[in-house]
Amino acid sequence: MLNDIQEILYDAEQIQLKVKEMAQQLSEDFDGRNPLVICVLKGAFIFMADLVKNINIPLETDFMAISSYGQSTKSSGVVKIVKDLDSPVEGRDVVIVEDIIDSGLTLSYLIDVLERRNAKSVTVATLFDKPGRRTVELEADYTGFSLPDAFVVGYGLDYAERYRNLPFIGILKPDVYAP
Ligand code: 5GP
Ligand code: MG
Ligand code: MG
Repeated sequence: MLNDIQEILYDAEQIQLKVKEMAQQLSEDFDGRNPLVICVLKGAFIFMADLVKNINIPLETDFMAISSYGQSTKSSGVVKIVKDLDSPVEGRDVVIVEDIIDSGLTLSYLIDVLERRNAKSVTVATLFDKPGRRTVELEADYTGFSLPDAFVVGYGLDYAERYRNLPFIGILKPDVYAP
């Protein structure tokens, strides 16, 4: 598995530090608001767990699964809700927890859905961002790390459902997906 990694961008320790920092900021900013924290499955599941563990105010969690890539490494532009939320978002302060923003298509679709359901506010927290690859204009409210334009895996992010369990974020060797 490690043989397939070209370069480690941020190791487990660096990620934990950043996640704690973001959790602290969210704790301050959402104090007294009981936010609904939404994990975008599957990529954000590890980030979500580490993040909420370090937020020290009352909150609720929910999960949503969205598909946009299939087995490819590029966004198809087609976004589909595979698993919807259990809770209504009307009148709630929602925080979307995302793994990575690339083209921005997935997130702009999701923000749109939550706004149409009359969320009181929609906030985006992403651990990783590839700002150079946007096709729609969009910026997260909380961003962990900006990454170069490369396909990355680990810390929840997959290629063809593999590599999610790596504790770091790294660049996948291109010959793994384009042999
Ligand atoms: P977007 O719609 O912004 O192009 O991409 C959204 C989703 O595609 C992300 O939430 C993530 O699940 C996946 N994605 C984007 N870039 C990468 C990447 O470099 N590596 C992996 N594993 N997934 C990515
Ligand atoms: Mg995602
Ligand atoms: Mg994926």
